[in-house]
Amino acid sequence: MKKIERRAYAKINLGLDVIRRRPDGYHEVKMIMQTVGIYDVLTFKKMEGTGNSSLIRIQMEKKENQGESLPCDKSNLIYKAADLIMETCGITEGVEITLQKNIPIAAGMAGGSTDAAAVFHGLKELFGLSMNVEDMKRLGVQIGADVPYCIMGGTALSQGIGEVLTPVPAPPEAYLLIAKPDISVSTKYVYENLHANTLTWHPDIDGMVEALKLGSLQGIAERMGNVLEKVTEKEYPVISRLKEEMKAHGALNALMSGSGPTVFGIYREKETAEKAYAAVEKLGLARDIFVTEFISP
Ligand code: ATP
Repeated sequence: MKKIERRAYAKINLGLDVIRRRPDGYHEVKMIMQTVGIYDVLTFKKMEGTGNSSLIRIQMEKKENQGESLPCDKSNLIYKAADLIMETCGITEGVEITLQKNIPIAAGMAGGSTDAAAVFHGLKELFGLSMNVEDMKRLGVQIGADVPYCIMGGTALSQGIGEVLTPVPAPPEAYLLIAKPDISVSTKYVYENLHANTLTWHPDIDGMVEALKLGSLQGIAERMGNVLEKVTEKEYPVISRLKEEMKAHGALNALMSGSGPTVFGIYREKETAEKAYAAVEKLGLARDIFVTEFISP
């Protein structure tokens, strides 16, 4: 039977600004999104003879030493995406989706959104749906603000609540050290404590776009900034420690991604990134640590 496999890549934010808090509570953002080489693997298979039982079954392949686990029920974004697509497209056949989770959970790397995005691509292929990328993005925003970006991937300027996307040139080749400290950060808490309408400092996102167009890694590194960092750092000093260590070991710059707690550093040489990996690991600052690269679709 036909089986489809898709990689769901994680993202980092090279820049993250919050323009304002709208009266309806949503935050208007201006972010530079970048796909990186850490990914979950989803497999899709049609399910035969579902009878009256649910049309969507999700299984998680648990890896050895995997501390975190996810519910495979209706709260999983994979379920929500599959349900929305099948309802919209009138699909009555069942689907079985298996998830191999490699992206740290609740880390600021859009792990749930990218899984949901992979469901769009996977089900389109499995059921031969006629949706194009724009259709998928329009539907995807109902699952989460980062889902449209995850459907397209690569390097993008993200505005509005995250759904207004403009592709920008990919950064030049570089190596990334990505480390997630063993703490849980609530995105809701971070945004609630941001006081978006009275911020006095904003990262130079327009300058970052220019640096990307020029292909200047130094220019990109100099403009890395995230307004959410101060809120999370205040609560969890390990984030500042990680950034300091990464920079002390040769990073051009280091930053927290999304609402955290994941921190990434940018390196010109793989060897330097690997040495920094060893230093961060030795100090016990993070449990999930990766050396990886930028990914373009
Ligand atoms: P973002 O960068 O978009 O803020 P995140 O990396 O901080 O995302 P996720 O890993 O997407 O956070 O997880 C956020 C919450 O979503 C978790 O509490 C988790 O229980 C829930 N969730 C539901 N489905 C998934 C999924 N497939 N993968 C990861 N988390 C999921």
